[in-house]
Amino acid sequence: MTELAATTPLYHDDSYLRQFDAQVVAVAERAVALDRTAFYPGGGGQMADHGALIVDGRRLPLARLRKEGEIIWHELAPEAGDPPAVGQRVAGEIDWPFRYHMMRTHTALHLLCGLIFTNYGAQVTGGQMYPDHARMDFAMEGFSPALVADIEASVNQAVRERHPIKVYQLPRAEAMQIPDLIRTKINLLPPDIQQIRIVEIVGVDLQADGGTHVRQTGEVGGVRVIKTENKGKLNKRMEIALVDELEQ
Ligand SMILES: [Zn+2]
Repeated sequence: MTELAATTPLYHDDSYLRQFDAQVVAVAERAVALDRTAFYPGGGGQMADHGALIVDGRRLPLARLRKEGEIIWHELAPEAGDPPAVGQRVAGEIDWPFRYHMMRTHTALHLLCGLIFTNYGAQVTGGQMYPDHARMDFAMEGFSPALVADIEASVNQAVRERHPIKVYQLPRAEAMQIPDLIRTKINLLPPDIQQIRIVEIVGVDLQADGGTHVRQTGEVGGVRVIKTENKGKLNKRMEIALVDELEQ
């Protein structure tokens, strides 16, 4: 079998792309590889997209997405019927309400991460997004109720301030000079990655990141801290949920 070319990740350049056209480059059982895709395959704590491929007017729902090396596989749901053939043109349709919610949540987590570091000097040790909430773990000794209220207020203040979010590539050597990126451990990225994708919430947070984000922080809507949990002496978990709009 000849080696497949990397799938072009359209979501890296345009996170607002909900529909796209592509060509089938490989089919393995019920999984389809395309030359390009706007489906986010999951990773970095962000859940994979949902949606369907459209082939000759037929709607083929996806069961899941999978990234193997640089190839993104679109696995068809059982009810989708036969997969398309190699060479066929298809359209992709992203489940936009789900994805947009993930984008808002992902940006909210970066706000949380940037603000907790700036205000308390605490680093993130992990994080995960779910359909209706998200969690993030911090190297902190504790979250008092006053601290939690303060953190929630500072995130919501940054939402109100509508900070723009910029996405760009930096050469690895250049990225290695930026303190904010060093703190998020970009040195742990595989050495063959020479161009680093940066997500910058202007004035708040700067990270190497492969996920999808909103264009400015106002789109987050707002956040509420729904739970905190002690996961160890220097490991505290915070769970947040989105709110659609803040009281002014
Ligand atoms: Zn991220």
